[in-house]
Amino acid sequence: MPSKKILISACLLGQNVRYNAEMVAFKHSIIRWWQSQDLLIPVCPEVDGDLSVPRDPAEIEDGDGISVWKNQAKVVTVSGDDVSAQFKKGAEKALEITLKYQISMAILKERSPSCGHRRIYNGQFQGLTIEGMGVTAVLLEQHGIAVFSEEELESAQCFWQEGR
Ligand code: SF4
Repeated sequence: MPSKKILISACLLGQNVRYNAEMVAFKHSIIRWWQSQDLLIPVCPEVDGDLSVPRDPAEIEDGDGISVWKNQAKVVTVSGDDVSAQFKKGAEKALEITLKYQISMAILKERSPSCGHRRIYNGQFQGLTIEGMGVTAVLLEQHGIAVFSEEELESAQCFWQEGR
């Protein structure tokens, strides 16, 4: 039976894991309630993939998370370094954690090349987004985890309540 635990992007809980070492204070009441019930398991796939804080910003070049897993696109930093392997490693660690805790739902940060659920940056470092999922979001969905972003919390809450 799936557990009630919820995987969540660590940056959504204010942890210092973002590429620019700037913490986001995301205090939605639904997240606060899950947190008060000790249901949230934070992960940062980029840090778990051995990238540092701070680190160069990275985007998916010519594709999305699906094409990265098919080796048809790469995750590259603004300096041109290929960090696809680190992004995949971090995604695999996130998947391991969902299996360990029998997690069936994840809340991931929209627009990130790892965590984005519906949109990611377009690979040109212009601040523009395209439709597509990040590397971790794809892997989790491919393994049956229901992924929602912080912009879909009401839907996530319904899913979580139905799954209890
Ligand atoms: S969006 Fe995902 S990979 Fe990026 S800092 Fe947040 S948890 Fe880490």
